[in-house]
Amino acid sequence: MQNYYQKEIETASREQLRAWQDERLVKTLNHVWNNNEYYRSKMKAQGVEPGDVKSCEDLWKLPFITKDDLREAYPYGLMSMPLSACNKIQSTSGTTGKRVIAFYTQHDMDVWYDMCARAIMAAGGTKEDVVQVCYGYGLFTGGAGLNGGSEKVGSLTLPMSSGNTERQLQFMVDLQTTILCCTPSYASYLAESIIERGIRDQIHLKAGIFGAEAWTEEMRHDIEEKLGLKAYDIYGLTELCGPGVAFECSEQSGMHINEDHFIIETIDPKTGKVLPEGERGEMVFTAITKEAFPLMRYRTKDIAILSRKPCSCGRTFVKMSKILGRSDDMLIIKGVNVFPSQIEQVLLAQGLTSNYQIVVDRQGTTDSIDVLVEMTPELFSDTVGAIHQKEKAVISALKDMLGIMANVSIVEPKSIVRSEGKAVRVIDKRKLYNA
Ligand code: ADP
Ligand code: ZN
Repeated sequence: MQNYYQKEIETASREQLRAWQDERLVKTLNHVWNNNEYYRSKMKAQGVEPGDVKSCEDLWKLPFITKDDLREAYPYGLMSMPLSACNKIQSTSGTTGKRVIAFYTQHDMDVWYDMCARAIMAAGGTKEDVVQVCYGYGLFTGGAGLNGGSEKVGSLTLPMSSGNTERQLQFMVDLQTTILCCTPSYASYLAESIIERGIRDQIHLKAGIFGAEAWTEEMRHDIEEKLGLKAYDIYGLTELCGPGVAFECSEQSGMHINEDHFIIETIDPKTGKVLPEGERGEMVFTAITKEAFPLMRYRTKDIAILSRKPCSCGRTFVKMSKILGRSDDMLIIKGVNVFPSQIEQVLLAQGLTSNYQIVVDRQGTTDSIDVLVEMTPELFSDTVGAIHQKEKAVISALKDMLGIMANVSIVEPKSIVRSEGKAVRVIDKRKLYNA
């Protein structure tokens, strides 16, 4: 028996979906044109007007929006509703001062929570379930999204937020949690903690909804086995609403994209050309039902493959593969989005060189980040104590910038391996993406 939140929509015919998309695209584009100066100028610069876009066929005519646009238009420049109509803000982790922020009207929140409710029900959730949400609350979208979805389903919703493993486990046992929502790395951590404490037989989990970072099939099997549940992937990003943009069903072979709310394209990240479906490319989303912050052709930098093979769950939404990589250099470390350029900025501000290397690894279930940076000639003549002080200062500055702890080592000049003369900036040993 399949479990749907909005069966008519989730199993609508392709023709029906396409009709919704055409109509909603035109409507939302007009809304953005009329209410958003920033995007209107971008469209004008490209010589396109709303009248040029009559259906999805014409989508390619529109300019892309990128993270750079979000930074440039920060904070209110891409908002398409007056402040008085918006009642929620969420934000990604990111460069301090220039975080990506997203706005929501009540309608936008409703739509977002509906999408998360679809994800929970696709994982077998019902109003009989106890749903423990251990994604972060606050600015992050994870907590709010799954919380809203779970309440819509009518499940008993436990707003735990992240951290405090002891308390998580106590509630999980006492309240007999059946559905766990958190990052896959935290799910692994919880699984190990449960085994360590010998309380596996007191756990009643049947499903887990794990997203916000990349994870492999091996990790899925490991978590499923250790926790005795079915593990489902969920994808999303703050720019589009948060988690719930796409979700896995009983087939566990890719995530259905909510096509009644988004139009998906895949492009060649180098040329920007739209690729035929089935080819690996960067995902570009157009939001067609949002009011406050509807981004048109937003470049996610996330690489995936789309498939329209009919799915045994009955849903007709296109499926995306797991995320296969990124077309930029963004890393997700301990759930935080980190760009090497942010680290470089801190190193330079601390009077160090840009000869550095970032090594990311995962010990057990915890990410670690080591920053190696070559000494400057001045430091070379300093005492060991002075160098140690400098390392501490950099650690503290990185903590302020990124919000996470990094290990910092100042190393001898020319000791960082260079390939073809260029330092290799990032070594990610975690192997998070399926080959
Ligand atoms: P989140 O709260 O989901 O981390 P952010 O907006 O901070 O939201 O980060 C979004 C990015 O996180 C995406 O562009 C993608 O790179 C990554 N991400 C989110 N969900 C997944 C997932 N299920 N698998 C792989 N990467 C994901
Ligand atoms: Zn399916």
